[in-house]
Amino acid sequence: MNLKQSILVAGNWKMNPLDLKKAKQLFLAVKNNLGRPPLKIDIIIAPPVLFITELAKLATGKKIKLAAQTVFPATLGAYTGEISMPMLQGAGVNDVIVGHSERRALGESDDDVKDRLQTAVGLGANVIVCVGEQKRDKNGNYLALIEKQIRSALAGIVASKLGPITIAYEPIWAIGTGRTATPADAHEMKIFIKKILSDRYGRGAADKVKVLYGGSVKPNNAEELLSLGQVDGFLVGGASLKAEDFLSIINTADKFSS
Ligand code: PEP
Repeated sequence: MNLKQSILVAGNWKMNPLDLKKAKQLFLAVKNNLGRPPLKIDIIIAPPVLFITELAKLATGKKIKLAAQTVFPATLGAYTGEISMPMLQGAGVNDVIVGHSERRALGESDDDVKDRLQTAVGLGANVIVCVGEQKRDKNGNYLALIEKQIRSALAGIVASKLGPITIAYEPIWAIGTGRTATPADAHEMKIFIKKILSDRYGRGAADKVKVLYGGSVKPNNAEELLSLGQVDGFLVGGASLKAEDFLSIINTADKFSS
């Protein structure tokens, strides 16, 4: 039985859609069809950064918060192509994803993830940090990898700074593949992650950190990942690009939220 808790559903649009017109259409198709009475869950959409300023105009005063898909650790300077946390905050965005596996695949290291997280948290931002294994093995080596990723990402974070941090467990083998972790796998990983946090920060601080699941979350598997997996929400890729699917996941998640 799932205990009532506050649930977060975050959509990562990645490098989609192709233009601002389509981005606005997708955003409004979600925003204008959120259920009534007001939903209890938290909703985040992470569009391409180029669209953020315009979408922020549509997001004001509404249930949906915008997030960036990554952020650079420095504030200002000679960093071609990068965007800093104060720039995002200036555009009204105080949430950011760091360490997504697609960025790690492009060369982002554990240290890079740590630096991004530390800067963003230091500047008062909310951070979703992604961890996940490439594949599973019978010996449970993937557990050691997840632990290493978490310990590294949080290396500079003290207990009092843990509040704005959410951990998204995203097994790489489940991202965009249609394969999903079983609810039992997701539940095991949530307990494992909570234990890592609890060992380092104590139970009280660890309890406040949400553990999301990401990896082919769809309308037809959201319910059991919440009821049996007992995750604190989702990071959704592909299904967040279809308003109907994203809304269905949101509505399912809302039933589990306090
Ligand atoms: C993701 O990229 O974070 C993700 C979970 O993608 P998908 O839902 O498409 O598997």
